Amino acid sequence: DDNSNTKNIPMDRKDSPVVRGVSDTVVGVLGGGQLGKMLCQAASRMAVKVMVLDPLADCPAGLVAFRHVVGSFDDGDTVESFAKRCGVLTVEIEHVDAVTLERLERQGVDCQPKASTIQIIQDKYLQKLHFSQHGIPLADFMQVDDIESVKKAGDMFGYPLMIKSKKLAYDGRGNAVARSQEEIPSAVSALGGYGRGLYVEKWAPFVKELSVIVARGRDNSMSCYPVVETIHKDNICHIVEAPANVTEKVKYLSIDIAKKAVDSLEGAGVFAVELFLTSDGQVLLNEVAPRPHNSGHHTIESCYTSQYEQHVRAVLGLPLGDPSMKVPAAIMYNILGEDEGEPGFYLANQLMKRALSIPGASIHWYGKPEVRKLRKMGHITIVGPSLSVVKERLDCILNEERLQSN
Ligand code: ATP
Ligand code: MG
Ligand code: MG
Repeated sequence: DDNSNTKNIPMDRKDSPVVRGVSDTVVGVLGGGQLGKMLCQAASRMAVKVMVLDPLADCPAGLVAFRHVVGSFDDGDTVESFAKRCGVLTVEIEHVDAVTLERLERQGVDCQPKASTIQIIQDKYLQKLHFSQHGIPLADFMQVDDIESVKKAGDMFGYPLMIKSKKLAYDGRGNAVARSQEEIPSAVSALGGYGRGLYVEKWAPFVKELSVIVARGRDNSMSCYPVVETIHKDNICHIVEAPANVTEKVKYLSIDIAKKAVDSLEGAGVFAVELFLTSDGQVLLNEVAPRPHNSGHHTIESCYTSQYEQHVRAVLGLPLGDPSMKVPAAIMYNILGEDEGEPGFYLANQLMKRALSIPGASIHWYGKPEVRKLRKMGHITIVGPSLSVVKERLDCILNEERLQSN
């Protein structure tokens, strides 16, 4: 078959465009998690070749990539030799060696988005500074180096106080809440201490969390996906509702902030802008991801062009696609590991099988080597005629699953 055939092609031939795609530029992706996997799936429809760099031999994207190079995206030499085999370099995770990317860029490597963007975003404190300098509304924040500075921030911002690590944050791992001055030491030690590099944020009293995905092409054309609502559980994205059930004014404000944020960053690709909506109708920026995002999984089934295809088009300089929804409503449910190993797999598998019998539901199982508690293992998207209908269908899947596991 085709797959085993490609395995036999010598490396130099395999990396060259033997089979012509919509574009013959090989897309190199730093990171091979679920986002990389879905990116490969979108590229594959256009016969665009994607090479992924990921240290795990059994990473999700390895299942579908044109080529998977096993290696660290945080190691300069590895990234450099990988970059030389690709026509354009992009990311599915921001925790990559940005210093090497800047150097490679100076040597002529085509990074999209630009290394400067990755550098700003991967340090959340630097990111906040950047956006505040660009006049984008944010919760107050402050760098902290010791207990005295956190206490000072607590006096200024009040409690609860959000303490965050500047780097390597994802799924809320890197966030700790101090509900009072007494809780500062335990919150800080939960994050690994001051040496890790911490900052604090004023508590954002949000009524909803929203997200806007903005795509920018190489010609600087921009296109925005509809505003969605994200519902987090233990700081992890859990459910996404599209479109968000908010006023037109809030949608307008959200898109305006998202565009301004992306406008302040360089390079092509999709960017996810996470937002807080407060009770008085204010919209604040939480953070930006310079890549496809969990809040855009639903676009695979619900939009004319998915965020993954859009990212591929953007970095390759192809025309951007239509980001609008082709169905009235969609809901996305993240399947988080509920238990370790086999018992965890069993629970997730029951849920997916149940989803298979629900109209409008699609399942995505990332194929991670092991189920772990709170790890993102897969997701379910349900499309339908209205938000209330897709919510009902999701309830139907979840309640049945609870019945069976009890
Ligand atoms: P991601 O997986 O999105 O990259 P992360 O680890 O970078 O997550 P954040 O986005 O900073 O973490 O925070 C995760 C969640 O914690 C937010 O979506 C929100 O629910 C909550 N949160 C973050 N900052 C604040 C804040 N200042 N006030 C209140 N809640 C907050
Ligand atoms: Mg983050
Ligand atoms: Mg976040």
